[in-house]
Amino acid sequence: MKTIDAALVLVDISGYTKFVNFHSVSQVHAEDIITQLLEAVIDAAEFPLVLNKLEGDAVFLYSDAEGAAPDRVAKDVLKQVQGLFEAFRARQNSLIEGGLNGCPCDACSNVHTLKLKAILHFGTVIVKQIRQFTELAGNEVILIHRLLKNSVPMNEYLLLTERFEALSGAPSMGAGQAVREAYDDLPVINGKAYAVSYAAPVAVRQVETMPAAMVAKVDRRLWWAQLPKRLFGKRAFRNLPG
Ligand SMILES: [Zn+2]
Repeated sequence: MKTIDAALVLVDISGYTKFVNFHSVSQVHAEDIITQLLEAVIDAAEFPLVLNKLEGDAVFLYSDAEGAAPDRVAKDVLKQVQGLFEAFRARQNSLIEGGLNGCPCDACSNVHTLKLKAILHFGTVIVKQIRQFTELAGNEVILIHRLLKNSVPMNEYLLLTERFEALSGAPSMGAGQAVREAYDDLPVINGKAYAVSYAAPVAVRQVETMPAAMVAKVDRRLWWAQLPKRLFGKRAFRNLPG
């Protein structure tokens, strides 16, 4: 076990809970879409920013700052995280433009509503090696996870803790909004949130889709229309057109 200074990044897909509708048949599609979006984010991260753990709809990454200048590490991480947003949007758009097989389910119809947020922090963490897994632990790891629940009134943003921004400098993304979060078991955390603006807007789905209820209705009409054929076979209707 050892302690290291590291830049910590938590990237989270928001709208996920609403997206995974437990009452519909679209859970497999929802999970598949989320997986593809998370993969796009992970694939875009480059060493020394590495994946530590998948956490449901979130990805926890870190960049080991031991033996490196902390400000350079933070600057690199900030630049990379902005790239992760673009990778997310690119995959989101390719899914939408690909038409999702024309599937009318809730998940496939709502890919455009998924958003990304990222929290960036810098601190000393404990590194534990458990078999082949590297586990990060300590107060700073707890802190960044607490920050997932915050008072930022934006959908898509970067949240930089004061400690991180002191090293990285402000991103070139317009004016930040001061954030002050208090949790029971931690000292007050100050930071700044920056609204994300993508290079490309989210795509609009072009394929014809039917609401699931309408699909069921069409299915029922088809079933009734085919009933005579089912009961009497084709020959009974040989004098009828069609
Ligand atoms: Zn679907």
